[in-house]
Order: sequence, then structure tokens, then C-alpha cells
Amino acid sequence: MKFIEENCGVFGIYSKTQCVNDIYQGLDFLQHRGQEYCGISTFDEGINHITHHGKVTNRFTAEELRSLKGTWGIGHVSLRDRQPMKWQTRVGEISVAFSGNVINARELMEDMMNRGKSFYKGYDIEIISKIIIEKGDIVSGISALSEKIKGSYSLVVLTKEGIYASRDIYGFRPLILGGNSESYAVSSESRAIQNMDMEIFRDVAPGEIVLINDRGFQTAEQLSSPRRAHCAFEWAYTASMDSIIDGVYVQEARNNLGESLAQRDIDEGNVAADIVAPVPMSGVGHALGYHKRSGINYQDVFLYNRYADRSYTQITQVAREKMAKRKLSVLPYVKGKRVILCDDSIVRGTQILNKVKDLKKAGAKEIHVRIACPPLMYPCRFGISTRSEGELLARKYLETGPILSMEQLVDLEAWVAQKIDADSVKFNTMDAFVKSLLIPRGNLCLQCFDGISPCRS
Ligand code: SF4
Repeated sequence: MKFIEENCGVFGIYSKTQCVNDIYQGLDFLQHRGQEYCGISTFDEGINHITHHGKVTNRFTAEELRSLKGTWGIGHVSLRDRQPMKWQTRVGEISVAFSGNVINARELMEDMMNRGKSFYKGYDIEIISKIIIEKGDIVSGISALSEKIKGSYSLVVLTKEGIYASRDIYGFRPLILGGNSESYAVSSESRAIQNMDMEIFRDVAPGEIVLINDRGFQTAEQLSSPRRAHCAFEWAYTASMDSIIDGVYVQEARNNLGESLAQRDIDEGNVAADIVAPVPMSGVGHALGYHKRSGINYQDVFLYNRYADRSYTQITQVAREKMAKRKLSVLPYVKGKRVILCDDSIVRGTQILNKVKDLKKAGAKEIHVRIACPPLMYPCRFGISTRSEGELLARKYLETGPILSMEQLVDLEAWVAQKIDADSVKFNTMDAFVKSLLIPRGNLCLQCFDGISPCRS
């Protein structure tokens, strides 16, 4: 529901049988991570490779899938560019796909151009691929990324030896391994593994380079990791609720976030409300947690249109708003009700303002907005675009950011409530947010909330 972009998802599988249908299915389970482009590469005698603009299930034809022969391969879904990207190299054909963001892309590209390299469009995936290829062997190439790249990457590289999978040394974006008697798989999210009758084995460790082939998973190299910095937003919004990220159930984290919002209301003098409801779908886990702790009835106030795209994939603001309207229709039951409305975060505030307006138009008596994340004060530089600083609603109020005291938070909440026409607004405090995620604070990236970069960039 937010204008949060540039997610993507990777999937790879090494199988005893033809693998393309598994990749297709795996990507379908990751489709929520990016809907603008999709692509599959498989290894047969060389690399077979097809990318498309659009969703996996809409774009790949049966004939194309039949042409993608091979028992191991990788796939990608994206909001930004076509991946995987296929290359002819001195170590043979390879295909590369990644999830994340290269902050120093321009600098790296200029350096490589000065050394005679050319680029097609200068996409991050080109830069990553060229750094890998330059080194001559895949493991050294992936290792070199950790020295050169400022930013985040979880990547898969398809080669004749198998699939290399790796996560940057901070582990910003998730990457998980699993399998069964027929196959070994790697995925951005566990849901693509557990829903395909495979067992989850473990997360790829930050800085680990894993080779996946007919012998299973082998750690080809473990680079030293200065600290972990898992993206906190994965549990609050990005990941699917049926996934397990770095050992924590996304559903449990979302329920906890909702519970802590309810606890704050209880501690501060309960808001009298008739129902607690989510902004679907990302607010569902939070609203259920709020319901559990407060005892207020859970009731939907929006009907989710599963056939409409996520609004952030639309290019223009007008298109996004139209799509958002198509996606959620108000249930008339809301008339006369006092509603606790739960959502994951507020970016610009336009979406939640429209939702509050829609509910009031349908006769809702009061709307109390409860937001699982602390206020977003800084744009993300590690692979999830939350727009520029000036566009963030909370930053318009507190130009200096970040929130340093409870008084500041309460003042901001009153200002936001006015801006979005709600009867009240509350965010989770940073402490409550971190506690709910069940991950030690020092292992999380919280940069979009507190402005502190967890790494050298
Ligand atoms: S800045 Fe925010 S969205 Fe970006 S990686 Fe860190 S926690 Fe995630």
C-alpha cells in the first residue's frame, strides 16, 4: 500500500529433473517482491534465458517454458530492471540476478569505464556482474563485491558448476536454503521453499558464498561480517506473512507489532472502539495482534481486490491512486463504527489519507490509525526506495529528524492525525518496534527510522 519500490526476489534450484516449472512456481511465490519484470535462466548445454516485462504467470508461454531446458537454473522478479542478466565470460556462460541496491553505482561505473569497460544502461546488475567477471573465477568475483560495493545484495549466479548464492556481509536482504530428495533450492523468502514441498534448511549467512550442485550446499567461502544489519522492514511490510526471515516468523513479528500498539493504548488510557481492522494486506498481521491484546473485535472494513496490482508498481501518482481505489473497496458495515485502523507504515501519507476519507464517507464514526513502524524519517539506500527525504510525511513536520523523545513522537502523531483527517494516530516507538521483531537491535538495519547507517557507506 505504500509507495515503496525497488524490491526484488531471487530463486534458484538444482534438481534431478527438468527445473523450469519449479523456477516458475518459485517466482510466483515471490511475485509480491516485484511485478514489473521477471526472468528465468536455466543451464543445459549452455544457458537458456528469457526475461519479460510483467508478471511471471502472465508472460511466460508454455512454449517458452518448454524451451528453458536444464536441471538447474535461476529466476528473478523485479520492479526495476530485467534480470537475470546473461554473460559470455572466460569461465563460460553465466547468468546473474540479485536483490538489493548498489549505492556507489556511479562511482564504480566511472572507474570501470576509465578502465575500458562498457555498459548497456549502467544498471546495478551490470556493475555487479562485471565485478564478478573481472576476477576470472566466480568465488573471487563474488568476494570482490564485498570490498567494492556499498549497499546491499543477495544474489544468485548460474554457472556450469551449479548455482552460487551469496548475501552481502551485513545480510540486508534475506536469502534462504531448502530442499527435498529431488532438489536443492535458494530463495529470497522461505515461502517459495515451504510451499513447494521442500524443507527449509537454513539462511545463507551474511558474507557466505554457497555453491549449490548435485552434492547439495557447500560453503565455498565465508567472508568476515562486521555486523548483521537485516532490513527491519522485511518483517513489518516487505516479506509475505507466511515467510520465516532469519529465524523469525513474519506473522509472529507482525502480531507482536500490533500487540505493542494495543498495549500502548491500554497504558495510555484505552481508545474506545467498536472494531479493529487492517489496511489489507500488509496491515492484517498488525490488526490481529492489536485485536489479541485489546480484545476489540477484528472486522474487515476493506474488501481486497486480488486481481489489481500493488499500487506502488504503477508509474504515475494518478495511476497509483486509481489503482489503490480499485484494489480496496469499503465494506458498508463500517457505518456508525469507531474503528482502530492498522497499517504497517506511513510514507507520504496520501494512501492512508484516502483510506480514512473513504471510511468516513461510508459513515465510519471515528478512525484511529495505528502504525506498526516508527515514523519513516529517511529514504532507504539499501534496496527499498521510500522516496526522497522531502517526500516523507513525518520529515515534513520534523525537518531535523530523527525522533528523539516521546514528546516529539506525540507531537508528530497529533500533526499527522490532522494531515490524514484521522481522530488519532499512533506509531510504535523504536523500542517497541525492535522488541516486537525478536531480533537483537544490533543485528537490524533501522536507518530509515533513525538515520544511522549500519555499514561503512
Ligand atoms: S533503511 Fe529501512 S528499508 Fe532500508 S534496509 Fe534499512 S530498515 Fe530496510
